[in-house]
Amino acid sequence: MAGPGWGPPRLDGFILTERLGSGTYATVYKAYAKKDTREVVAIKCVAKKSLNKASVENLLTEIEILKGIRHPHIVQLKDFQWDSDNIYLIMEFCAGGDLSRFIHTRRILPERVARVFMQQLASALQFLHERNISHLDLKPQNILLSSLEKPHLKLADFGFAQHMSPWDEKHVLRGSPLYMAPEMVCQRQYDARVDLWSVGVILYEALFGQPPFASRSFTELEEKIRSNRVIEDFFAHPWVDLEHMPSGESLARATALVVQAVKKDQDGDAAAALSLYCQALDFFVPALHYEMDAQRKEAIKAKVGQYVSRAEELKAIVSSSNRALLRQGTSARDLLREMARDKPRLLAALEVASAATAKEEEAGGEQAALDLYQHGLGELLVLLAAEPPGRRRELLHTEVQNLMARAEYLKEQVKMRESRWAAETLDKEGLSESVRSSCTLQ
Ligand code: ADP
Ligand code: MG
Repeated sequence: MAGPGWGPPRLDGFILTERLGSGTYATVYKAYAKKDTREVVAIKCVAKKSLNKASVENLLTEIEILKGIRHPHIVQLKDFQWDSDNIYLIMEFCAGGDLSRFIHTRRILPERVARVFMQQLASALQFLHERNISHLDLKPQNILLSSLEKPHLKLADFGFAQHMSPWDEKHVLRGSPLYMAPEMVCQRQYDARVDLWSVGVILYEALFGQPPFASRSFTELEEKIRSNRVIEDFFAHPWVDLEHMPSGESLARATALVVQAVKKDQDGDAAAALSLYCQALDFFVPALHYEMDAQRKEAIKAKVGQYVSRAEELKAIVSSSNRALLRQGTSARDLLREMARDKPRLLAALEVASAATAKEEEAGGEQAALDLYQHGLGELLVLLAAEPPGRRRELLHTEVQNLMARAEYLKEQVKMRESRWAAETLDKEGLSESVRSSCTLQ
């Protein structure tokens, strides 16, 4: 008898070992064949007394369907047996566990992995549907992985599977609510296409870590499926970039940013002014797309041309003062290095800071430099806290402040580079080549 405390059931010809998982009726064990092959298998055990008439039907259908098919992405049923207590399905062993565990130990899957899995699942489903078989209980728990090193999906648990031709309509609810198609949940009338809905839910779960309509009750689920609540992530996605969509407001927003830029420029804050001009450009591009009147379009272009020239000048100012700062920082660091000969940890941290500075001077090295600065800063802050008062402490303090300023500056740079696309689009609008570089400081 299977049961807690009783260990796995006995089955002639096999040694049953660890429990692999369990579902509604069955418990699945890993097992070895006693024959000299010592083949490893998975044995799904169903206690006969847990079965009612409907579930006997299901089990028989599962055996009948699996016996008749062979597909690289469908778990293979090797044999079945029974005794007075249980029915046993002897299956190919899938060492990688099930997809639910696979997703949740990784939190989410990268798109390229999810795509390969989708291809494998699709090929298994196409094979089944060509044979008029619907699975009807597709969910991550019922999809197994051949191994963890080289995972291949194996569709399993055909306990709810049905022979269904494309025009068959069914009414019996089966499957797991979270993965069930809405016509099944809400109308109790469905056909073979419901499997495809479940595939969509599985894909979503693979990419986002949880199913789209996660709910605690059937009513809550039905409400969620029926509601036209927006999926916020989509609207906020940087690729969709709704904020910069050409609209009647684009011009006003661009102009407001220019006003701020001019103010900063007057105050002598070149870096802030440049950043604001670049943000303004991000709105001028859509404003130009939105403007239909040729004359007004030309007027905007002329204005933008002027801002671009000023941005160019600011860029020159910012990068020369940046170079000066960089030089100052480097010589201050050299001095500190002299005073840190007996402190290997401090020397190492200063090395990281120098590596960051070197990276900063490479084209496109901003992000790498930023990471290095942040790493170096972490170390230096710890050292600063332990440093006794004195000249070295003062220098260390200045070094920390310099590095923070560098990191801030680079963050700004990375942000501005992201808005370069705007300048590239402006080019297509007939503006000068210089626009392209006005938002980056290399
Ligand atoms: P149920 O019909 O009770 O849901 P399943 O066939 O889905 O039973 O099996 C339950 C769990 O056992 C699966 O979710 C999976 O974790 C594990 N399992 C099932 N079959 C295998 C197998 N062939 N290899 C490895 N693990 C398996
Ligand atoms: Mg199952």
